[in-house]
Amino acid sequence: MISSPYFVIDADLLEANLKVLRGVIDRTGCKILLAQKCFSCYALYPLIARYLNGATASGLYEARLCHEEMPDAENHIFSPAFQEADMDEILRICDHIVFNSPRQLSLYGERAKAAGLEVGLRINPECSTQEGHAIYDPCAPGSRLGTRLSEFRQMTSHQLELIDGLHFHTLCEQNSDDLETTLNAVEEQFGSYLSRMKWINFGGGHHITRSDYDIERLERCIRHMQEQYGLSVYIEPGEAVALNAGELHCHVLEVQPKGDDGVTNVIVDTSAACHMPDVIEMPYTPPILSPSNGDGQYACRLGGPTCLSGDIIGTYHFDQLIHEGDEIVFGDMAIYSMVKTNTFNGMPLPAIYIRYSGEMTPWKRFGYEEFKSRI
Ligand SMILES: *Cc1c(COP(=O)(O)O)cnc(C)c1O
Repeated sequence: MISSPYFVIDADLLEANLKVLRGVIDRTGCKILLAQKCFSCYALYPLIARYLNGATASGLYEARLCHEEMPDAENHIFSPAFQEADMDEILRICDHIVFNSPRQLSLYGERAKAAGLEVGLRINPECSTQEGHAIYDPCAPGSRLGTRLSEFRQMTSHQLELIDGLHFHTLCEQNSDDLETTLNAVEEQFGSYLSRMKWINFGGGHHITRSDYDIERLERCIRHMQEQYGLSVYIEPGEAVALNAGELHCHVLEVQPKGDDGVTNVIVDTSAACHMPDVIEMPYTPPILSPSNGDGQYACRLGGPTCLSGDIIGTYHFDQLIHEGDEIVFGDMAIYSMVKTNTFNGMPLPAIYIRYSGEMTPWKRFGYEEFKSRI
């Protein structure tokens, strides 16, 4: 038995997602980049590079990872504010750089052009299409992300000349109707600038590989920008690349007596706070693939072995009693999971396995050293 907890990434499920994305590339001629902040499992970058055009980075380290592990692919970078100390290396390894503000463009734009990069500016179309997740809404009032039209208009012609493309990122787990709404806002506000650009980047948050996603509408949006303005179109999904392609396996450490609220507390050897922080941050309840659950009669609240009262993964209704030593498998654990783990309370980091055609291959194991070295 493999000691738990551990992540499993299923290469076949990942490849099935990549085929869906490749279909969009082949039918429209757009380019699709992996947003590495969501999924940076570089053992699978060669597979990803067979289907997608490259990757995008949130900073120097992710850009380096793309440079090293997807060496022939496009390497884009965006940051709300770059550091001078990183700039030489970024300009050496990236081919596209997107600035967040006219000030950042003035600071680094000319150097980027001289180094041969294409330069973009992130815009804020001030068009919120999501409710409930304010921390994931870059168009929320007061947002620091993206240049608003009022600021954009004040740029000098010299600043404008530095810009090859516009970038917006406003969606999170959304369908293409919200993209269409956003694109209308972009055209209404920035339409007069679009024809002088080479490309537009629609950002991420497109849940393209979800079964109810309207891919035809996405493709209409892409074609419209290509035909109306002569633009190349990029999209840079994270979640859609690895959606439902991973699992987190753990074991039950203790089953407490049924609690005063009629729910049984079950302590497992994984932690929401340490191994799936989005469960608490977002928040959401991850699906359990096994044992079977849904509307069973055994209500269990699964929590981690940390000090945090709120280290709760969720309440589940199992079809059978849960016992010490039982294995529990959480689904959809490839995205925003491994990239966000931490060792709070001295929790061990889950190992990472990759499953190729049903065969489990160990990729990474972590121990006490990772805890100690990160303090
Ligand atoms: C987070 C992010 C992405 C990827 O978003 P997903 O929701 O994972 O698709 C792409 N671009 C930018 C600028 C981002 O901040």
